Amino acid sequence: MKFADLHLHTNFSDGTYTPEELTGRAVELGLAAVALTDHDTVEGCARMEAACARAGLEFLPATELTAEVEGNELHLLGYFVDTANPRLLAEMTRFQQVRQNRVREMVARLNQFDIPLQADAVFALANCRSPGRPHVARALVMGGFCSSLDEAFERFLKKHRPAWVPKFKMSGLDAIELIHQAEGLAVMAHPGLNHADEIIPALVRAGLDGLECFHTKHTPSASERYLRLAQELGLLITGGSDCHGLSKGKPLIGTVKVPYEYVEQLKAAIARRKSNASAARSALRTAP
Ligand code: AMP
Ligand code: ZN
Ligand code: FE
Ligand code: FE
Repeated sequence: MKFADLHLHTNFSDGTYTPEELTGRAVELGLAAVALTDHDTVEGCARMEAACARAGLEFLPATELTAEVEGNELHLLGYFVDTANPRLLAEMTRFQQVRQNRVREMVARLNQFDIPLQADAVFALANCRSPGRPHVARALVMGGFCSSLDEAFERFLKKHRPAWVPKFKMSGLDAIELIHQAEGLAVMAHPGLNHADEIIPALVRAGLDGLECFHTKHTPSASERYLRLAQELGLLITGGSDCHGLSKGKPLIGTVKVPYEYVEQLKAAIARRKSNASAARSALRTAP
C-alpha cells in the first residue's frame, strides 16, 4: 500500500523542520506523497518541491489559511494552488502583516505582566514572515519564563488568557474563493477540532471541495463520521499528521497515513477543473 501525509508544516511558518529535513523524514518513512501546508504562506513550496523531486517523492503544493465563519475559527487547506498566483500572494502578505503585528501586541501584553520578552527576540527565533503563537511560546520557554510550550499556552496564549490577541481573519467563503481563483482545491482542515459541523453545508454551497477526515487529533470515530459526511456531500477526502517538527518531542509526520487513492482523487478533481476551465475559455473564444 502507498500512503501520503497531506498536512505538514516547516519553518516557513510554525514548524521546526526545513523543507529539506521534512522531505528527508518523509523518505525515511517510505511515504509516497506529501503536501506542504504552512500557515498563510507558500514560500516553502519551491524548496520542498525541489527536495522531493531529488528524492523521487510526489509533492503537492498547498497552504493552510486561517478564516472564520460565524465566529468560529476555521482552517482551510488549499491543495495545488498556483504558488505564483498574484492575488493569493497579495492576500497572504496581508495576513503575514497581521501575524507580525499580533506578535508585537502579544509581547506588549506579556510586558504588562512583567515578562520582559522583546518582540525582536520572537522575530529572530521565528525567522519567517508568518509567525504565530507557537513562536511566542518557544521564546517564552527559551527566555526561561515558562518551562514548557504547554505551560506558555495554558498561562498566556490560549484564547482568553492574558496575552491572547484575537486575529483578523478572512471569511471562510472568501478563503474558498481565494483558493479557487488560485486554481486550488479548498479543503476544511481538522473539522473535529472546530466543533462546528453545522457550518459545513454553507461551505459546501460556497464550493468547498473536501474534508480533512484523517488528522492526529481525530478519534477513530470522528474520522469515520467525517468519511461518511464527505461521501454524503460528495466531498474529496484528505488527511495528514499536522506535523510541526520537533517542537513537542517526537515528530508527527507519517503517524496519520492516508491511502494513496485519495491523492489520486485530488489529482483527478484538479484535472477535471482544469479541463472545464479550458473548455469554458474556448467556448468564449468561439462565441459569436
Ligand atoms: P496562531 O496561528 O498564531 O493562532 O497559532 C496556532 C497554532 O498554535 C496551531 O497551528 C498550533 O500549532 C499551535 N497551538 C495551538 N494551541 C496550542 C497548545 N495548547 N499547545 C501548543 N501549540 C498550540
Ligand atoms: Zn501551526
Ligand atoms: Fe490548523
Ligand atoms: Fe496545520
